[in-house]
Amino acid sequence: MTSVDTTINRIAKGAAGSTCDSDLSKGPWVFDLRAAQTYGPGASVADSIPASSPRQGQLPQAYQTASPEELEERILRAKAALGDRVVVLGHFYQRDEVIRFADFVGDSFQLARAAKDRPDAEAIVFCGVHFMAETADLLSGSDQSVILPNLAAGCSMADMANIDQVEDCWDQLVEQLGTEPDADGRVPVIPVTYMNSSAALKGFCGRNGGIVCTSSNAATVLEWAFERARRVLFFPDQHLGRNTAKAMGVPLELMPLWNPRKELGGMTEQECVDSRVILWHGFCSVHKRFTTAQIEQARAEYPDVRVIVHPECPMPVVDAADESGSTDYIAKAIAAAEPGSTFAIGTEINLVQRLASQNPQHTIFCLDPVICPCSTMYRIHPGYLAWVLERLVAGEVVNQINVGNDVAEPARLALERMLAAKP
Ligand code: SF4
Repeated sequence: MTSVDTTINRIAKGAAGSTCDSDLSKGPWVFDLRAAQTYGPGASVADSIPASSPRQGQLPQAYQTASPEELEERILRAKAALGDRVVVLGHFYQRDEVIRFADFVGDSFQLARAAKDRPDAEAIVFCGVHFMAETADLLSGSDQSVILPNLAAGCSMADMANIDQVEDCWDQLVEQLGTEPDADGRVPVIPVTYMNSSAALKGFCGRNGGIVCTSSNAATVLEWAFERARRVLFFPDQHLGRNTAKAMGVPLELMPLWNPRKELGGMTEQECVDSRVILWHGFCSVHKRFTTAQIEQARAEYPDVRVIVHPECPMPVVDAADESGSTDYIAKAIAAAEPGSTFAIGTEINLVQRLASQNPQHTIFCLDPVICPCSTMYRIHPGYLAWVLERLVAGEVVNQINVGNDVAEPARLALERMLAAKP
């Protein structure tokens, strides 16, 4: 199967098929220098970029104009020169043209742990997005440098909750609910942040008795939190929070949304008091694209289809699917299925197409017929990888992601609580 990049380039030249944005066929450097308020082409194009987000400077011209073959040769030469001094990590949603150079491929937490398992590497080149590189920095050694090849590779979902907004929300909740434990020793509220959040928010959770979760362990983490608190403040992804808590039996009416632009998040005082899970008004623009109509279409075309979606999808989509689970869950379900199975998958297109080519014994397709990758993940291109690696060979660390100690220590505490939480 051809890669997503190749397909997009063919469509841009007039071949059959559709993409959400024909600008996807341009190099990301075209967008790095624009003073745009929103992300570049791809699923997050309409999401706003916080003013504080790091911006990528000009990628040297030689990397912009190099052919794919030249970039491949330069990357392989630099990796060979660096040997064990460097480890390249690639997220599941990364384009194939980058993934082929990765030493490890996985989800954000698997990659952070891979970074931790390579204490010999001086540099960790993280081909993912900003919060993932921060997590790798939290878990790697203080003498290791974590590098994000393009600083403009943020995550629009992570950006939907910033530390000032969350601190303000917390102050309002404390004012409404107090801090006194009840007769069972449970505090009024515990903060839970999804892994897809800034290190500052993980640090906030560490400082306030809270915890981090991933899409694989969200139910275990919520159970941990309910043992200690009467309610949970869950950020930034409302859909993961709602889908997980609903499956655990929490009624929807006890899961109000927190809108950071409104007083008390837009809740009434009674809704706040009655709540079990307060959901931050955040979402992933990639997973928001999946619809129940797409599932109906897949079932009409393939009556035996098994529909698996990511829990970042909206609740009606998760409810209409056969299963929901993390990227790791999806990959394992496909690997374990009887040959000849048909899967319709609701997650990022690069992973779906890779799973399809790695599992030719099955029919695997993306629920969304329009090719629309994660905008920010797409900001990593082989040109940036070649640049950061060649700078390393020259003895220069560029695009280093460094989490300060004041944030790192409590953030690690919140991550350690997650690792210690048991089902
Ligand atoms: S797929 Fe969604 S959550 Fe993941 S990096 Fe992209 S915008 Fe963020």
